[in-house]
Amino acid sequence: MQIYKVGGAVRDRLLGKPVTDIDWVVVGATTEEMLAKGFRPVGADFPVFLHPKSGEEYALARTERKSGRGYGGFTFHASPEVTLEEDLIRRDLTINAMAEDDQQNLTDPYHGQRDLEARLLRHVSPAFAEDPLRVLRVARFAARYAGLGFTVAPETLELMRQLSESGELEALTAERSWKEISRALMEDQPQVFIEVLRECGALKVLMPEVDALFGVPQPEAHHPEIDTGVHTLSVLEQAARHKQPLTVRWACLLHDLGKGLTPEEEWPRHIAHEHKGLKLIKAVNERFKAPKDCQELALLVGEYHTHGHRALELKPSTLLELLQSFDVYRRPQRFEEFIAACEMDARGRKGLEQRSYPQADYLRGAANAARTVAVQPLLEKGFKGPELGEAIKRERLKALKAYKEQA
Ligand code: ATP
Ligand code: MG
Repeated sequence: MQIYKVGGAVRDRLLGKPVTDIDWVVVGATTEEMLAKGFRPVGADFPVFLHPKSGEEYALARTERKSGRGYGGFTFHASPEVTLEEDLIRRDLTINAMAEDDQQNLTDPYHGQRDLEARLLRHVSPAFAEDPLRVLRVARFAARYAGLGFTVAPETLELMRQLSESGELEALTAERSWKEISRALMEDQPQVFIEVLRECGALKVLMPEVDALFGVPQPEAHHPEIDTGVHTLSVLEQAARHKQPLTVRWACLLHDLGKGLTPEEEWPRHIAHEHKGLKLIKAVNERFKAPKDCQELALLVGEYHTHGHRALELKPSTLLELLQSFDVYRRPQRFEEFIAACEMDARGRKGLEQRSYPQADYLRGAANAARTVAVQPLLEKGFKGPELGEAIKRERLKALKAYKEQA
């Protein structure tokens, strides 16, 4: 048997990027031979094994044939006769379809190295269209390598467009989509992921609520960039620049969905968009079965981001309601993430990226003021049950009034 490094490890070495996980392909071997060498099989569908020591993935060279819709709709054929070239041709991008032996001799039948130099994300063969997940993968790689100057080859974008129009994207499971979306959002330029999806028509299928924001104007005085879609991309860009976690990036992407529902007659104003957007945020959350912390933060940021921006003008009672909604006493981290998302929203405006955001410290101070209210003295005064709750609230309100006065 011959063993080769494939995929990301080869690509990233040639790019001079750090290689984290290595995928291997094994040519000329049978399952029985792999098991005899101590490899552990993974999954029933794929001829993939884990190395007994390193735990890295070793796949038998295989060919694939489309046999139905979606990801289940594949037949695999792995045998010792399948060549390296046959295995590589079923891969998504030319830059992912290179292999390397232990002497670093490159096998590159589909010109991945040429495309690396040309900074092009190009599909290997027309079989690209057989797995709709590849649309998301290409957009994700575009987000990752945009900083190096990579773009999607026009003919690949055209295939992605056809795939998006064919209805095949709808066959993707929430789990597979979320895995790509969440990884893409954590890349250096997550806004490029959304841009590429939009360009090929996939955004309209996957997240019509986000797609609808493009072409929707906002008041120029607050939003020099005007377009809500452009604003959303900038907010995401800021979130990545400020190294925000996934929860914050997800909330940034969805925070303004309500603006897509405003009747044109009301443009460029968006009255109550925060509240109107909640059902859309919920729908997107559920469509991709986003993790609970992402879902929660997106809904909270959607509902309260304007409160965040107006923090210094809020009445103590409104401030208290805000803090209660976030349960800042038990969930301090989540409130920090809310503040971060608000700040990214404020910075995601043309020409205002560097402007300071005093609301952030003000909100932190308010949370601290409310938190200093001690329960023990109230218990000692004999308050219990709902009365205790009311008494705590009154004390917190007092603390917030004092805070606002001295701020
Ligand atoms: P990463 O750095 O994100 O791990 P990668 O290129 O190694 O990038 P993997 O998901 O680890 O991506 O997959 C390894 C290789 O398997 C890819 O480089 C590609 O050749 C192939 N591959 C993975 N998923 C697909 C797919 N859906 N369609 C076609 N080829 C795929
Ligand atoms: Mg990999």
